[in-house]
Amino acid sequence: MKRRDFIKCGFGGAGLAVGSGLASGADNSASPSGKSVYGHPWWVKMIPRPKLAVDDHVYSRFKASNNVFGSFSRYYGMENRKKLMQESRDKTIKYYLEKRPGYRLEDRALADAAWVISRLGGLNRGTRAWTSKSVRTPEQRGVENYKGNPEEAAQLIKAAARYFGAATVGITMLDRRHINSQEREKEIVFEPAGEPYEDEEKLVIPDKCTYAIALSVQMSLDNLQCSPTAISSAGSSMGYSRCEFLVAGLAQFIRGLGYVAIPSVNDLGSSVAIGVDAGLGELGRTNRLITPEFGPYVRICKVLTDLPLATDKPIDFGLLEFCKVCKRCAEACPSNCLSFDDYPSFQVKGEWNNPGHLAWFEDSPKCLAYWQESTSGCSICIPVCPWAKKDKTMIHEIVKATSAKIPALDMFFNTMDEAFGYGRQKSADKWWSLNLPEYGIDTTQGKG
Ligand code: SF4
Ligand code: SF4
Repeated sequence: MKRRDFIKCGFGGAGLAVGSGLASGADNSASPSGKSVYGHPWWVKMIPRPKLAVDDHVYSRFKASNNVFGSFSRYYGMENRKKLMQESRDKTIKYYLEKRPGYRLEDRALADAAWVISRLGGLNRGTRAWTSKSVRTPEQRGVENYKGNPEEAAQLIKAAARYFGAATVGITMLDRRHINSQEREKEIVFEPAGEPYEDEEKLVIPDKCTYAIALSVQMSLDNLQCSPTAISSAGSSMGYSRCEFLVAGLAQFIRGLGYVAIPSVNDLGSSVAIGVDAGLGELGRTNRLITPEFGPYVRICKVLTDLPLATDKPIDFGLLEFCKVCKRCAEACPSNCLSFDDYPSFQVKGEWNNPGHLAWFEDSPKCLAYWQESTSGCSICIPVCPWAKKDKTMIHEIVKATSAKIPALDMFFNTMDEAFGYGRQKSADKWWSLNLPEYGIDTTQGKG
């Protein structure tokens, strides 16, 4: 079935009617002031708290050493790990010699090169340092700190974030439970300090850092659709490098206004949990953030600050209901690590999951083992998601809007999406001759 046949069959028209009929009742303001130009599309609803419940008796700060990336041997077994790594190396050579598309020298070189900026930072290191000597503070300029009201400050932050490469931006009061309890074998603590600092035993976040700015960065769907190859891996690593530039630039901007800023990518705490609180998206079946604008093809990062900011609300765009019937990511996952359950639950799959909240928890060691097996990581679950669309054409907007408002049609939309062939794997060979936009992404998207 072609897209135009779908529109002709009358459903697109019905969607339009549904869309326009509901538009007047939508709350699409991104900030309490309702003046922000960085809001979501009209069909995204603001809600007082995230849809997936948190058990306050259980949910607490996560020990980063339980993360599967740092403890793969522990979860998978040292011998298994060694065997997998060796097999991965052997396969890498074999694929080179076969000149297999997506695994040739140029493909691998691209993926490695795309990491280059990301490798400049780490928890309180390099581009992610918690303080900076190179910033010109208001004091050095002989003026007072920035004094705008929280709404004005939020607008400044959102404009600056977009300028440094954010696709979407949300602001929330920081829930300290989203911050890791320890990392790099040091405690992460909150203290009544003037500036963040690190000593031999601990990393100190000042108590006054009560705001978190959540940021999404687009990844190239043209790259991710080539998963699992080095070309798709380059899409991921470019996302991380752009996050690095974004949080470094935004943190420096905030310091230049006279306030504390702690930049972070995957370190320090859960960007996903902060992103959900700040209204960037909802938690999907992949146990990752899905945004209404870009679906799952985003990387998430954050900056903590003491600059008083107007906050945003969590959002509901119908994803929870959609995920209950969709399951495309779980079906496509080669390692079988994603849940097929109809409903999210509190039951974690292992210590790599932080318990105490509803989610579709994933079996992460299986995922990571597949990354080794493929020799180039994996992101198959991203482009198959029906919310991952790189073009913002009218039909996609109508379908998203209708799905957000009428969950009974979710199964129909999912079936149509599959019938149109969206999310199908593309040849890595052809990627090199695409007429790519800057960074491989369309930066005109996500205007809300
Ligand atoms: S990255 Fe690959 S292996 Fe991991 S959950 Fe997604 S599809 Fe499965
Ligand atoms: S593929 Fe389907 S089930 Fe998976 S996250 Fe996307 S909408 Fe949810």
